[in-house]
Amino acid sequence: MVVDKQEALSRVAQMVADCRRCPLYKTANKPVPGQGNSEAQVFFIGEAPGFNEDQQGIPFCGRAGKLLEEFLGLAGLTRAEVFIANMLRHRPPDNRDPSEAEIAACRPFLDRQIEVVEPRIIVTLGRFSLEKFLPDSLISQVHGQPRFVDFAGKEYIVFPMYHPAASLRNGKIKALEEKDFIKLGQFLAKLNQAQEETGSGSLRQISDQDKTEKQMKLI
Ligand code: URA
Repeated sequence: MVVDKQEALSRVAQMVADCRRCPLYKTANKPVPGQGNSEAQVFFIGEAPGFNEDQQGIPFCGRAGKLLEEFLGLAGLTRAEVFIANMLRHRPPDNRDPSEAEIAACRPFLDRQIEVVEPRIIVTLGRFSLEKFLPDSLISQVHGQPRFVDFAGKEYIVFPMYHPAASLRNGKIKALEEKDFIKLGQFLAKLNQAQEETGSGSLRQISDQDKTEKQMKLI
């Protein structure tokens, strides 16, 4: 079946706007369904809307978002090319951590967006989205190391990153995250080059050719 991706994503946004699956809608100002290119190769997943996102209904539109845009530039990407979403679609009061129940309630929206966009790479920003794909791994140990992950019957490459808010707080983390975004850009370029050369859409085949990418593991 041919899916009109933009229509499918608009439908998700409408479901988020109507969502009563957890109580967060009661305290939030605006829903933040996620935003971006329906043909994105790279899909970013943060944590939850903060103050600015809740005011505007747009993910990563505050200080962390400005830094994320700078990081995207290091990978040769623009905001218009990628898709950006969060684990939660309504702001938790006082920016507290998402609860397990809230993450579970919001999961269908994220899963459907991933299914529709079919990105090649999923970038997790921070520990909550990391936990979804690589449970029990530590961001300090796995950041910047792409892995194959089977998710909902498809194979994706998950590229774990620190959350940009952590980089705003800590210069050492910011330096690491800059390196990771440069690496993401190089990795994407290699994937695209290999695909052009082989005409292959198989991510596993492409990365098998790349013997230097030692971190690539099947999990
Ligand atoms: N932090 C997040 O995790 N998401 C946003 O959209 C903004 C800040």
